[in-house]
Amino acid sequence: MKYLLLISQAWLLFFLPPQTPAQPAPAAVPPVSVETSLEANEMGRIPILEYHSIGPTEYRWTRSAENFRKDLEWLYNNDYVLLSIEDYAHDRYPIPAGKKPVVLTFDDGKPNQFRYLENGEIDPDCAVGILDRFHEEHPDFGTAAVFYLNRYPFGSVAEAPQKLAYLYQTGRQIGYHTLDHNDLRYLGAGGTLAVLNEQKKMLEKWMPEGMPLSTLAYPHGWGPAGDRQELSAMISVGLLIGAEPAYPLYHEKADPYRTPRIQAIDDEWLRHFGRPAGTIEKQDHPEKFDVFVSDGITDEI
Ligand SMILES: [Zn+2]
Repeated sequence: MKYLLLISQAWLLFFLPPQTPAQPAPAAVPPVSVETSLEANEMGRIPILEYHSIGPTEYRWTRSAENFRKDLEWLYNNDYVLLSIEDYAHDRYPIPAGKKPVVLTFDDGKPNQFRYLENGEIDPDCAVGILDRFHEEHPDFGTAAVFYLNRYPFGSVAEAPQKLAYLYQTGRQIGYHTLDHNDLRYLGAGGTLAVLNEQKKMLEKWMPEGMPLSTLAYPHGWGPAGDRQELSAMISVGLLIGAEPAYPLYHEKADPYRTPRIQAIDDEWLRHFGRPAGTIEKQDHPEKFDVFVSDGITDEI
């Protein structure tokens, strides 16, 4: 990332007027234009970030609203563009040339992910409110984000149809997390499909027509033991909890039913992205620089 940061700063210098005195490095690097110098690498890895609660204070399973906004800023300033999990699952990469896809995922359908205020507006401090605001200010970042739901989507069955319609209209996705946060380890693929079918029946009562539903975040990260290929009857991708960026599904190292994610917590931002210290050197960790960069051609591979 240090390497990428240098590229970004080189661009900055290019545009600075010659009389400008030397300045300390800015805290936030401005976004690089579409004419980026990143080379296409469509065999590289993609971060699929995992969030749970969004709240006023940072805890183990809560990202503070302030840190969540900073995460989005950092991604935007480092050439990332949002990719939907359904696009990832179907090998579609509608990403401009030189940009890097990132997938945002939210587990457990918490009220702090999508909540209305008493006046009917979306709470600006819930995940959807923060994402909406960020998109208004940075329309080229995209809107995609997937919400993995249980029995009470965002804490309210009554509001579920309205919320799912809004998510669909604004380019967001939903996925399975099972009705009761079931432990799938002992169910086998067949038992897992039965549990998912139950949830599907319920979600279909609320989902707008055309909304896709083909991905599963395993509760606790545990999928069914044994062969998971049988899940393909309903599921295109099964997501784990940790702890690496994911290869595109056409890569030989990818297993769609064991797709890794990265928890969006400070330790993991540091480990995978060198943020904020910028301590990752390319010669020490070449794999961390094996990042998917789009060639800008929206072919289905
Ligand atoms: Zn969960």
